[in-house]
Amino acid sequence: MSRVFNFSPGPSMLPESVLAKAAGEMLDYEGSGQSVMEMSHRSKEYDAIIKGCEALLREVMEIPDDYKVLFVQGGASSQFAMVPMNLMTGSGKADFVITGQWAKKAHQEAARYGEANIVASSADKTFSYIPKLDPASFTKDADYFHICWNNTIYGTRFNEIPDTGNVPLVADMSSCILSEPVDVSKFGVIYAGAQKNMGPAGLTVVIIKESLIGKAMDITPTMFNYKTHADEGSLYNTPPTYAIYICKLVLEWIKNEIGGLQKMKERNEKKAEILYDFLDSSKMFKGTVEKEVRSIMNIPFVTGSDELDKKFVAEAAARGLINLKGHRTVGGMRASIYNAMPVEGVEALVDFMKEFEANN
Ligand SMILES: *Cc1c(COP(=O)(O)O)cnc(C)c1O
Repeated sequence: MSRVFNFSPGPSMLPESVLAKAAGEMLDYEGSGQSVMEMSHRSKEYDAIIKGCEALLREVMEIPDDYKVLFVQGGASSQFAMVPMNLMTGSGKADFVITGQWAKKAHQEAARYGEANIVASSADKTFSYIPKLDPASFTKDADYFHICWNNTIYGTRFNEIPDTGNVPLVADMSSCILSEPVDVSKFGVIYAGAQKNMGPAGLTVVIIKESLIGKAMDITPTMFNYKTHADEGSLYNTPPTYAIYICKLVLEWIKNEIGGLQKMKERNEKKAEILYDFLDSSKMFKGTVEKEVRSIMNIPFVTGSDELDKKFVAEAAARGLINLKGHRTVGGMRASIYNAMPVEGVEALVDFMKEFEANN
């Protein structure tokens, strides 16, 4: 068996020990005589899995007791509608910082339900920076303030939590959740599609302050109401059972093998540094964003020549370094180095980049 280093922006790599454990439990989960995939979501075995997953997430992220953890479906993209349907019901206004495609989509979707204001944007320079925020421009009576913490496509990230006063801060953390510690108490809602750092596609995690639940618009579909899932412990209907099980294994890996989020952060920073150090010294390859806001998860880079970019992506793939093609709006390459990417994967990439530069 030979496994590749997969630099995909998502779905992405999972820790090998997680996959091995899941494989070992595939036919017979803990003596139950069945796979987790075949299990009733109302069984006592499954109850222990979903409760165990939530308890681990609370422990690893240090989620305060007055927050609910919801396991839902529909991807982060459904949250672009679910957030306004549940929260935009006071003044009917919300503020948005446009730092990339995902932030833009969150804004566009919210604009269908209320007054969605743009307080800052970095669209003028292909989202290569995080705009300065002026609190004087924030809507005082907004129902929430939305940011995308890590911009998956462009490779930028917020370094500071914006001070929005009493206005609940909502963050899309799809591509950075569990990559480092976060002070959850500073946020009203944190949401993430699981397929980057938490597990397989199909699961979406919502961490929401309890006081924000129960104010949904009348038109809100039952399945889009946070209260539905909060009241039923995410078991109102069939949750994505297997994805939640894998998420639990990933959390066990972070807790027991990595040693928690501080250690996870150190490992991620080390990986990012290896690649950024090379980009800063290379004559051929260049990073595409402002240094101060570089993501430690998604790292776009270019050679300046479409032809060379193409050649690089193809030759890298032949070496088992796959999915390095950049997003069409940036071009070039993008290395997504989420939690599960080992240090050796980044080292192998940089070794190949050096060789490619020398040969071309
Ligand atoms: C991947 C991604 C999304 C889209 O997630 P889906 O689960 O596919 O809907 C949204 N926001 C960010 C920041 C992402 O990285």
